[in-house]
Amino acid sequence: MPRKRSAAKRRKPSSRQSGSGRRTGLHRLERSLFALVLMLLVATVAVTRLTGSRSLAARLEEAWQNRPRPVAAAEGRRVGLIAGHKGYDSGAVCPNGVVEQEVVQRIAELAAERLRRAGAAVELLDEYDARLNGYRADVLVSIHADSCIERSGFKAARWADSPRPAPGDRLLACLVQAYGEATALAFDHHSITEDMTAYHAFRRVAAETPAAIVEVGFLGGDQVLLTQQPERPARGIANGILCFLEGPTE
Ligand SMILES: [Zn+2]
Repeated sequence: MPRKRSAAKRRKPSSRQSGSGRRTGLHRLERSLFALVLMLLVATVAVTRLTGSRSLAARLEEAWQNRPRPVAAAEGRRVGLIAGHKGYDSGAVCPNGVVEQEVVQRIAELAAERLRRAGAAVELLDEYDARLNGYRADVLVSIHADSCIERSGFKAARWADSPRPAPGDRLLACLVQAYGEATALAFDHHSITEDMTAYHAFRRVAAETPAAIVEVGFLGGDQVLLTQQPERPARGIANGILCFLEGPTE
């Protein structure tokens, strides 16, 4: 069988300087080159599929710029993140099965990961976590998502009746700026409700704990971003918190 013959050929010592030996050597070189070209082709197709229309260099540059890294101001600071509805209910449930609690849980976990890599001590809390009573931390952010309607935008609020509004306002400014940058979503400040400004956890935490609630976007209009690119909202929340921690200590 041809296979056996070629196997026999391959077993010949390679140092042999006969014509057929050189031919085999050339044949091998051709095959290696062919394999190399084929690999390059497959790699090119894979990279093109992965990166879409954007160049690989641009994607790598962005990933490098957005990498989680230590932040001096975050070192040892205590951060609480409430994964909205966790331990209580599912939150909004869209007709296609997307569940608010699962979406915000993923975002909270990714944000916690980034903040831990920055050096912070992060606690992931349930919606009605027992630890929230008198909770002391450098910052607390509750993460929720808006309804399944075809609308787009994020919201952020602090306690309207906060006894210490200044840190809350600074936290909000940082969150709005960083979240907008990371997600390219608009800040929907017109539709902030009392559900947000009188959020239950604001009254429960220690008065000196700066706290805010973020609605990361609409499960309807922003669903692709929230479910398929959760690292972007997570980066927005983490960067907003880092911006706050880098500011003056009140
Ligand atoms: Zn919610």
